[in-house]
Amino acid sequence: MSESTAKPLEANGVYLCPVCRHGQIAPMVLMDTYACNFCRHILSLDVVHQTARLEDSAMTFRWQWTGTNWRSLSTPPVSLTYTAIMLAILLVTLPPALIWLGYRIFPPLSSDPRAHWFPLFWVGLTFFAHLLMILRIFAGLLPTTPFVGLHFRGRSHRVP
Ligand SMILES: [Zn+2]
Repeated sequence: MSESTAKPLEANGVYLCPVCRHGQIAPMVLMDTYACNFCRHILSLDVVHQTARLEDSAMTFRWQWTGTNWRSLSTPPVSLTYTAIMLAILLVTLPPALIWLGYRIFPPLSSDPRAHWFPLFWVGLTFFAHLLMILRIFAGLLPTTPFVGLHFRGRSHRVP
């Protein structure tokens, strides 16, 4: 343990980024916030409580400064994740289902197979457009990936 190199969290200091654990966070010009030079996430530091908070995410992520490193204070909100997944499934499946229902209730008057191609194509397009939207949203909400891996650091494959 390198206790001798431990330093308190201070304003205007440069610290390891708690999000990516690769870049360094430094004060932003004319701002009270800090930015990482690698992952570009924006954080605010609380020098009284020695904590950092992620500012550019819809979800709250906080870390405690231990003097040498960051310790995550955020536990994954399971209920929120469950609700979000349910909403995501609804948002992906409901619009194409409605379009498909409309196609079934009011089928094209022509028996030409080309007249049936377009509504089904539209169902597929709606599905993929909403799926892409959901994936974009979830990708933006997942700065968790770098520090999920952290829990596995130092874990030995062999049980002593
Ligand atoms: Zn970073």
